[in-house]
Order: sequence, then structure tokens, then C-alpha cells
Amino acid sequence: MKKIIIAIDGYSACGKSTTAKAVAKHLGYAYIDTGAMYRAVTLHFLRNFVTLTNHAEVERALAEVHISFIRSEKTNENETYLNGLNVEEEIRKMYVSDQVSEVSALPEVRHAMVAQQQRMGRKKGLVMDGRDIGTRVFPEAELKIFMTSDMDVRAHRRQQELLAKGQLISLEEVKDNLCHRDHIDTTRKESPLTQAEDAILLDNTSLSVEQQVDFVTACAQERLKALAQIG
Ligand code: C5P
Repeated sequence: MKKIIIAIDGYSACGKSTTAKAVAKHLGYAYIDTGAMYRAVTLHFLRNFVTLTNHAEVERALAEVHISFIRSEKTNENETYLNGLNVEEEIRKMYVSDQVSEVSALPEVRHAMVAQQQRMGRKKGLVMDGRDIGTRVFPEAELKIFMTSDMDVRAHRRQQELLAKGQLISLEEVKDNLCHRDHIDTTRKESPLTQAEDAILLDNTSLSVEQQVDFVTACAQERLKALAQIG
């Protein structure tokens, strides 16, 4: 059976990773969280006090970054490693979220990450989520989904996720961070977040996780069926 690439883009905290992970599991595909890659780069830059306006410093620091995903035996999910160390928990903290969009807007950072992401998709059979997957990383992806959701719903969901990880953050702070990231992500010069012309819009404001997963899985199965008919 043919394998496809599924690109899931959209605003911050609208459930892309949860949906992408479940769809990948359902289809037996690999799942790549590209936000985790940008978060790992941000963590490295913060730890090394990299000045974002200094191109040479950015290039030097980027050359030291090695990101990998390793499946955890405990959770049976991929966890993010930065230069051999597990940073899965650290990259989800607010101090990283507060800086990640500034770091991700740097062209040097985007070029390095996009090249690595494209290498990961060479064999297809992949669900990748992010901001520029359908527009920049895999413009030829067989299925593109663009996810959105009401801001209050997103902020509440993200606050609950952080709370489950032991981080008590006010709704206001969560909302400010999401608005700030959406603004930078949609207005940056290099591959801004935008819905690809051929992407299917999925507004999940009043959908359950199960309903979103079913919707994307059904879209994928339809594409696979159409491809099989072409032969
Ligand atoms: O997906 P997540 O919210 O963890 O992504 C964190 C940040 O990484 C985003 O707000 C965005 O600035 C950046 N990002 C990006 N391009 C991607 C994925 C994430 O610029 N493909």
C-alpha cells in the first residue's frame, strides 16, 4: 500500500500534536513534532546566551545543535533529545515558550530545521505538525490540514496541560503567550504561518479529540483510496 505525508499546521495550542500523534498511531505512521525541534533550539540558545541579532553567533550555536527523537519505554511516545540529553519536559516550560517564536523567526534556524525535517520525510508514511509543513517543508504533501480553534478554548486547554505537568500558570499569561506566538508566527518574513491553498480547514472549537482524530483519519483514508485507484 502506498504511503503518504500528512501535514498538520495551525495556531498555537489548538491540538495539532494530540491529533497528529493519534492519526499516526492509527495508520502505523511516524510522527514528528516540529515545534519540539524549534523549542530544543531555543533551549540551547537560552542556555548559551546567544544574541539573536548576531548572525555569526547564531550560526555557531546552531552548528552545535543535534536534535533526535527517541521512543520512551515508559510512555511509548517519542521524546525530544538535545545533544544526547532528554529535554522533553524542559522545552515545554513557559520560559522556552516565551522565546521560541523569536528564535523560530530567524532564517538560519528555519533553514537548518526545514532541511532536517525534509530528510525525515524521504520515505513518506509520516504525520508532521507545525506551522509551515504544508507550505514550506512538504508543499507536495498528499494531505494538508489547517487547524484552528477559539482562543479562549485553546488557552484553557493549554493551561490544563501545563497544570497536569505541575506548572501553575494563570489563564491570562497562557493567553498572552499564545497571542504573542501567533502574532510572530503569522507575520515573520520567512515562511509565516498561513493556510496552504489546498489545505482542509479544521476548526475544532466544539469537537472532542476523538472527533478530530476521526476526521483527519477519514481524510487520510480517502486520499489513500484515491491514490490506490490511480495505481
Ligand atoms: O508546536 P509548538 O507550539 O510547540 O511550537 C512552538 C513554536 O515553534 C511556535 O510558536 C513557532 O514559533 C515555532 N514553530 C515554527 N515552525 C514549525 C513548528 C513550530 O516556527 N514548523
